Amino acid sequence: MFSYEEIKTIRKQFPILKKNNIIYFDNAATTQKPFKVINAITKYYCNFNSNVNRSFHFLGKISTNYLELSRNNIQSFINAKSREEIIFTSGTTESINLIAYGLYQFIKKSDEIIISHSEHHSNIIPWQVLSQKKKANLKFIPVNSEGELNLRIFNKIITKKTKVISISHVTNTFGIINPIKQLIKTAHKYKSLVLIDGSQAISHITIDVQNLDCDFYVFSSHKMYGPTGIGILYGKKQVLDKFPPYQCGGGIIEKVTLKKTIFSGLPFKLEAGTPNLAGIIGTNKALNFLGNYSIRKINTYETKLLKYALKILSNIKAIKIYYKNSQLTKILSFNIENIHSFDLGQLLNNYGIAVRTGKHCAQPIMDYLKINGTIRISFAIYNTIEEIDIFYNYLIKCLSCFYPR
Ligand code: PMP
Repeated sequence: MFSYEEIKTIRKQFPILKKNNIIYFDNAATTQKPFKVINAITKYYCNFNSNVNRSFHFLGKISTNYLELSRNNIQSFINAKSREEIIFTSGTTESINLIAYGLYQFIKKSDEIIISHSEHHSNIIPWQVLSQKKKANLKFIPVNSEGELNLRIFNKIITKKTKVISISHVTNTFGIINPIKQLIKTAHKYKSLVLIDGSQAISHITIDVQNLDCDFYVFSSHKMYGPTGIGILYGKKQVLDKFPPYQCGGGIIEKVTLKKTIFSGLPFKLEAGTPNLAGIIGTNKALNFLGNYSIRKINTYETKLLKYALKILSNIKAIKIYYKNSQLTKILSFNIENIHSFDLGQLLNNYGIAVRTGKHCAQPIMDYLKINGTIRISFAIYNTIEEIDIFYNYLIKCLSCFYPR
């Protein structure tokens, strides 16, 4: 567990926390960036900016080495079997779209794709489009009264026609940890591929893709203290080998004539064009930052924050917390009777408290629960019990505007 002094030292590494007198509880949307990450990006542009895998002068060689070093570090961070299984994208959204595109040729009429009611729009829409184009059936795992996936229904709807199951590891709405290992095991009995959207898990849960045995695991760097605009797609080599290039252009070819092209192998085949090298270098530094503390230790600390927030918020009579009896990680979503989340979020903002309000890019689950959104607070390594106390006191103050004595 981190000591108070350790957290104070960690906070000093985040310039934005020093500059703004803000309580930042919107970490599920994006985390803040430490000096380490920011400086690595500046250093790259100041000292060795150049293109990769094509410019063979000394700067090009340095950049290429950094690119491949980052790939190796990501491989070991998630324990992928080979470096070819790590593909750089612009984020989780692009990763899921790339996979849906890659699977296009394998999905036939009447095949089935399964997602859950609780997915982010990025993990719904690509599957809707794919199933509409291929006349496949899109099926859904509903949630139970505790917001957890209803595995009884899952076991009923999966069939031999199920080709892909795409599920979040941790839901962005309520922070529920899904039983992905169990889902993957069942899916493989039916020979279905499984994609895990790890956006909300990556900086909180240790990921071992070989142990999970998922076919794909995707995440965004900006949710793990890294820069925006860069994502990671892990895919089993034997599956990615069958994918056609997602985009066509430079960097992915063995040979091009005017008539035809011979494409490179993995990972280059799926990385057309100049990559976001600054983003990749920043991601490597974010891994380095996380590595200083260990995910397990971060998780223990964030769980302490979550439990404290749950306890203190439970003092409010008119509150509904989603879903305090489930296995949650670093996200707490709630509503206060008769108050719209936008109104409360706006008032909290006036006191310098950043929370997320609304439907969190997950309209289907909000419709299913017949609510028009929630207030979501989400923690990161730099948040403190003190901040939760301040937040709570301001929350009570805000509520007095709605419920005057
Ligand atoms: N899936 C989940 C569960 C998310 O929380 C998010 C981001 N809120 C995404 C997908 C999309 O990530 P990005 O915008 O970085 O592509």
